[in-house]
Amino acid sequence: MAKIAFIGLGNMGGPMAANLAKAQHHVVAFDLSNAALNTAVEKGAHKAASAAEAVKGAEIVVTMLPAGKHVREVYEKDVLPNVGKGTLLIDCSTIDVESARHVAGLAEKAGLDMVDAPVSGGVGGATAGTLTFMVGGSEASFAKAKPILEKMGKNIVLAGTSGGGQAAKICNNMILGVSMIAVSEAFMLAKRLGLDAQKLFDVASTASGQCWSLTNYCPVPGPVPASPANRDYQAGFTAAMMLKDLMLAQQAANAAGASTPLGAEAAQLFSLFVNSGNGAKDFSGIIKMLDGK
Ligand code: NAD
Repeated sequence: MAKIAFIGLGNMGGPMAANLAKAQHHVVAFDLSNAALNTAVEKGAHKAASAAEAVKGAEIVVTMLPAGKHVREVYEKDVLPNVGKGTLLIDCSTIDVESARHVAGLAEKAGLDMVDAPVSGGVGGATAGTLTFMVGGSEASFAKAKPILEKMGKNIVLAGTSGGGQAAKICNNMILGVSMIAVSEAFMLAKRLGLDAQKLFDVASTASGQCWSLTNYCPVPGPVPASPANRDYQAGFTAAMMLKDLMLAQQAANAAGASTPLGAEAAQLFSLFVNSGNGAKDFSGIIKMLDGK
């Protein structure tokens, strides 16, 4: 049993902390939201009055925060000044690569092991403990983090050095955003050409157009019964989250001098979709906008 500080108990962090408590770890939790904190306590965590208090004496610190600025602030003000030597730091938030490397650099200067470990799998995966973790850090830090991450996820991958987890996540989600638009456009073209959606699915799902957006998450109702298209695009993975990840990919592409014209176009289209009041819808709902609705 390890003493684990958990900061950020929202839609994802809440169930992740609950799974650590369920695995008999001593979880000391903090969130700015009392409601989130109280729910975590109901699920077996112990309440801390501040992030600084939560991390004191912790062997492991896990953070699950909205964006890079929150991670920088919490690590600079609360975590790094208050943790003891030997504490392992795990940031599971999805943030920009630059912030991930900045914070890992500060940890290294303080003699602490740190990994970035963003996740894929959504709230369902967080609750079921089946998340995929994409980890950036040294092999030694990865080996220490893995047994903890295994209590919250099923697939734990060392993607590279610091920031490598974030890089893997935004590259993957850029593929997803672009491919969802491509699949949606194909279904809309098929409709205008009088081609039945199920027929297009039957052909493309076994031909060279096959991809996850088509076969696991089909944006039209019918062919894949579990996809959000069958429940009026109730999320799922929200369009706002997809936009966030596409913007992070663009930020990284600009900083690294990588040319990503389709990624840039996908970011613009999702921005239009989200700004028309669809941020809480599933990202596959973008097909409605592409259909002119
Ligand atoms: P959320 O908004 O539900 O939760 C974030 C929590 O952090 C909130 O409870 C908030 O009060 C807390 N918080 C913010 N600043 C804080 C601070 N300074 N100290 C303590 N607590 C603070 O967000 P979420 O959906 O749980 O997502 C968390 C991270 O996981 C994000 O980076 C997101 O991109 C990523 N993610 C989310 C999903 C998803 O499906 N929701 C999937 C994969 C990755």
